[in-house]
Amino acid sequence: MLQQVELYSALGKAEQNNLFAKLEQIYANLPRTSCDGCATCCKWGSPPAFFIEYLNMYRYVRDNMKKDWLDILKKSTEYFYLELVDVNQKCPFLNDDNNCSIYNVRPFSCRSYGLLSKKDFETGDRGLKKLAQKFKDEYDLTIPEEIINYELPWCGKVVSDRGSYLEKSTLAGLAAQIGSLDYTFFPQELVDQEGTLLPYPVHLMNAVLGTGARSRKIKVMKQFVDEGSKELLNHFVEKASSFQF
Ligand code: SF4
Ligand code: SF4
Repeated sequence: MLQQVELYSALGKAEQNNLFAKLEQIYANLPRTSCDGCATCCKWGSPPAFFIEYLNMYRYVRDNMKKDWLDILKKSTEYFYLELVDVNQKCPFLNDDNNCSIYNVRPFSCRSYGLLSKKDFETGDRGLKKLAQKFKDEYDLTIPEEIINYELPWCGKVVSDRGSYLEKSTLAGLAAQIGSLDYTFFPQELVDQEGTLLPYPVHLMNAVLGTGARSRKIKVMKQFVDEGSKELLNHFVEKASSFQF
């Protein structure tokens, strides 16, 4: 679990060190793209974001989407607790028209989707089979097969203004540059070895909920799976809803 960093001091550090502008400069190395906009790739789950990208998204929501804040908090809390047991959980920024409500600040993982050839595209082992077995053995908790086996498909409908796919090494290099911005907030070894890539809801709940609430995750998941109840979850949704910018 990523160590907790005080949100407001992190935002201040990012501003002081010009990190949001540096992030934009890295993003500018990616080609401009267009696609069908079917949103299949946005229903895979909430995409991983580096900590600096999470701060960028947080700041954008704070400055531009105040009226949506309660809804984002609710969806993010539900996602945090149920991502492994509820197939209906998806990115909290996908709106009802299948558009991205934070398109200008979407993370690198969304921007880079569709830029690799089919041969180079890989989602990697998410380690869910192992985790599912551990949950079964230790908590008698069953992760749905649909979630364990789901893999984000390659998409061939992305049209790039460069007219060709990128090399894997190019994307890896840009991702490493973004990761290095996180050295401002975490020890370099932690960023390099464990990584700071987490879905936005997980980053957000690290700031919104205390350790006690976050440690009840298994209990919330079990109540949802075994009893079909969201009673405990709703308690934490209520708790999270009092969080102010
Ligand atoms: S990148 Fe592909 S899957 Fe994602 S919205 Fe565009 S067409 Fe759909
Ligand atoms: S941040 Fe936007 S582009 Fe990325 S998954 Fe969510 S809705 Fe889709």
